[in-house]
Amino acid sequence: MTAWDPAFLAAPPLTEAEERLAPALKLYALRTLPFGEIRAVGFDMDHTMARYRSPEIDELAFKKAARLLVRERGYSPWLLEIEYDPNFAMRGLVLDGLRGNLLKLNRERQVVRACHGSRVMSRPELDAVYSRRRLATAAKGFRNIDTLFEIPESHFYAQMVDGLDRGILKAENYLQLFQDVRWAIDATHRNGEMKAEILAHRNFFIPKDPQLALALDRLKREGKKLFLLTNSEWSFTAGVMGHLLDGQDVARPRWTDYFELVVVSSRKPAFFLETPEPKPLAGHPRCFMGGHTAWLEAQLGAQGEQVLYVGDHIYGDVLRSKKNASWRTLLLVPELERELKLLEAKAEDLRDLQKLETARRRTLRRASVLLDQWKRNRVRRHVLGPRLSRDATVALDHEAAQLAASAEALQRRAELQNLELDRGLHTVEAAFNPTWGPMFRDRDEQTRFADQIQQFACAYTGKVGNLYMVDPHSTMYAPVPSLPHERLE
Ligand code: IMP
Ligand code: MG
Repeated sequence: MTAWDPAFLAAPPLTEAEERLAPALKLYALRTLPFGEIRAVGFDMDHTMARYRSPEIDELAFKKAARLLVRERGYSPWLLEIEYDPNFAMRGLVLDGLRGNLLKLNRERQVVRACHGSRVMSRPELDAVYSRRRLATAAKGFRNIDTLFEIPESHFYAQMVDGLDRGILKAENYLQLFQDVRWAIDATHRNGEMKAEILAHRNFFIPKDPQLALALDRLKREGKKLFLLTNSEWSFTAGVMGHLLDGQDVARPRWTDYFELVVVSSRKPAFFLETPEPKPLAGHPRCFMGGHTAWLEAQLGAQGEQVLYVGDHIYGDVLRSKKNASWRTLLLVPELERELKLLEAKAEDLRDLQKLETARRRTLRRASVLLDQWKRNRVRRHVLGPRLSRDATVALDHEAAQLAASAEALQRRAELQNLELDRGLHTVEAAFNPTWGPMFRDRDEQTRFADQIQQFACAYTGKVGNLYMVDPHSTMYAPVPSLPHERLE
């Protein structure tokens, strides 16, 4: 029988232009995305339209939160001396505020890597705390690192846990530190100081992407209604969007000219769950504060799957808009560019490791076949013992000794292969992040973050400007998932 691959059902060959597109410029579809059926395209602002300069913006939040904790909550000025480490945390991790830990979970929500404070926990240590239980991270005391805004918070918390363990800081427990850090980071976002500084140095903190205006223009020309839906307040939104879009296109001199509707202070995810009345912004037609899904859909004349929403927050932008409004979703993953570069640089190493793993499994398989033969040999010896001739007994024992020796040699070889594999994998994974490895996988398992993307995003990409390369009438096809039994050889 010829091989039948269900993926053939949906994947038409790529056009030449698509083939040539650099990986960092591509959209990666996880569900079929018929752009022709989409009537409205919405955008989140922070870390979506605006790609903030990192790690500088994170360091700003980190330093401001430290000052607040010393000034307002009486923490030791030691906090002001901590250097911000941008590589300490990454998106997709989970903070365990009760125990002072940061965790990486696999798709089964089991902990696969962990740090207590900034110290890496050993496998036995993390197994003793979390065993192989499925972790319910929605429970009190946990915080999912879902957006880039939460990266400095994770590092700050880890440093405070170290401070408490070393007796430098005073607090009742890890949870108090966790709550105080949350308060401080929250306050730095709310008190306006950080935003004022970002706007004062907007050229530095908010790099422009020349493809952004082109991408929006292309969508508009094809009749899509565009909207902005952001949790940021009006003054900050106007400052950031004006910086990005004002004067980019003579036909649309102001940033608001690109949008049919602008919603600020939108309170996502509550925007998708509750129905507060929107408040019009005086002097700014088509601009509102707050509102809810049904109202927005009525304004745009587009509903459910006719709406595509582009955002960076896996929960607030993607999961909620998909689950509660049935919108199609495009997840922004600014980290993708770096991840792709590393994958390319490490491709050969990864292929070698895959070969090594195949060889290791084959070695183990051969060892287990030999062991099975040895067991059968011993059963025969035991059952037939008295009835066997002396020569037959000697031959049987001789064969058993050989089988045992060969099986043992193979097991030793598999152990060596395992060590080599461990070392190789460790080196490759450390290139992504020395503590956590890659965002999307851990050894041969996918992470919780990768699983969430697959469950809720229709597609993902590195930046909004990449939409410029997408034909607004085309359909993007996702690889068709297949179960092992569907692949007929
Ligand atoms: P969006 O991504 O455009 O929807 O907007 C995110 C907004 O949330 C920005 O204005 C951030 O400053 C703000 N933000 C991020 N983290 C926090 C927080 O912990 N507390 C309050 N506001 C936050
Ligand atoms: Mg955002």
